[in-house]
Amino acid sequence: MKKNDTFQLQITDLGTGGEGIGKQEGMTFFVKGALPGDLIEAGVTKLKKTYGYARIVRILEPSEDRVEPICPVAGKCGGCQIMQMDYRAQLRFKERKVAQDLIRIGGFSPELVAKVMQPIIGMEEPYHFRNKAQYPIQEDEQGNPIAGFYALRSHRVVESDRCYLGVDVNEEILAIVKDYMRANKVSAYDETTGKGLLRHVLIRVGFSSKEVMVCLIINGSTLPAASDLIARLQQVEGMTSISVNSNTRRDNVIMGNVTKTLWGSDYITDSIGGVQFQIQPRSFYQVNPVQTEKLYGKALEYANLTGQETVWDLYCGIGTISLFLAQKAKTVYGVEIVPEAIEDAKRNAALNGMDNAHFYVGKAEEVLPEYYEQGSIHGEKIAAADEKLKAPDVIVVDPPRKGCDEKCLSTMVQMAPKRIVYVSCDPATLARDLKFLCAEGYELQEVTPVDQFGHSLHIENAVLLTRR
Ligand code: SAH
Repeated sequence: MKKNDTFQLQITDLGTGGEGIGKQEGMTFFVKGALPGDLIEAGVTKLKKTYGYARIVRILEPSEDRVEPICPVAGKCGGCQIMQMDYRAQLRFKERKVAQDLIRIGGFSPELVAKVMQPIIGMEEPYHFRNKAQYPIQEDEQGNPIAGFYALRSHRVVESDRCYLGVDVNEEILAIVKDYMRANKVSAYDETTGKGLLRHVLIRVGFSSKEVMVCLIINGSTLPAASDLIARLQQVEGMTSISVNSNTRRDNVIMGNVTKTLWGSDYITDSIGGVQFQIQPRSFYQVNPVQTEKLYGKALEYANLTGQETVWDLYCGIGTISLFLAQKAKTVYGVEIVPEAIEDAKRNAALNGMDNAHFYVGKAEEVLPEYYEQGSIHGEKIAAADEKLKAPDVIVVDPPRKGCDEKCLSTMVQMAPKRIVYVSCDPATLARDLKFLCAEGYELQEVTPVDQFGHSLHIENAVLLTRR
């Protein structure tokens, strides 16, 4: 076999990047856009010793899971990887992936996995679920402003004002911003030269409050004809906050450090599961609030609180889970590495009148051991030194994709809570960490996948472990 050869290939699996996988003459081939169940005519694009890459020349027999994607730029835009797969099939695929990782990486028996795995909680409406959009702005060859999304692994903007994962008002706002740019000759930022003004438009909508926020990220400090922009954007229903954020750096980070409110409030307010959150342009906030409520609702169910419990919430972010739990627990202690997120968490606790949630900045793998061994955090004795804190009833973790540090896990084991609730955004590191905890005295009770990001390969899980 050599480059450009074509051959028939049966696709049998999906890879981590969403590419179809098929085997031919002992070689494994990766094919972008192909689905398990597709029989394709494949064209070799790259060959290595034991594997290769191919493209779809023709689909000979489509997989029964194959659908026509609703979005015209699916496959070009880097946002969705599996929109060509029926949503029900996406859910089955994700469920299977979690089970496989628990078996292969976690070392759990297929029987146990079958017993603990709950059906995946999918979305009722797998479109228009995102409350946040960040559109890069560029100019086309005629110098007209265009908005869209980056193509896969690139910074070329694929023009698309409508994203089917986002809300309708995004389109209205982008049209207004582009009209304003044309009317006032405002340039779009050009990454290659570092010149031009408008870089990104950030839009956020509070799904329960209906409040709308727009933040223009600019390569400079002032926006020309700001009053014209404000007058236009004020017409949008629910408009609550209009701001500019200044980012003059030439790296890939979208936002800079300074945000100025041009009109309205500095933040919008929204609620998840009865807890209110104030969200500023730079704040972290869950992008799919409907599914987040289901995921964190599971975590709360697993925590099984009666009002008497002491709970640690590690990797707490802005305290979404902590505040969920604080409604039902005696005391909740949150730990998070990003100082701004802890500021948001404290503000949100006060906003909700919760005085039983306490937050600390730091690495979970440093704060927890220090507290356990010395009764202090960052060298300061905890005033309300509660012995119960060293033997909490429940520990909840919600780490980033790389999972928990082993020092964090081993301290958790020493603290010996009756229950550990593990919220995860990566089944592979979840399986690795569960293996550790189960070797140290914990028992896997339930695993519930929740789909927060339809059409992508992301998988979230809520897991309950109890002490043997
Ligand atoms: N439950 C949170 C989101 C958790 S996402 C919420 O709803 O807001 C994972 C969080 O872990 C992020 O906020 C990230 O900043 C934080 N983080 C990453 N590494 C960490 C570490 N070593 N110790 C503590 N927090 C960490």
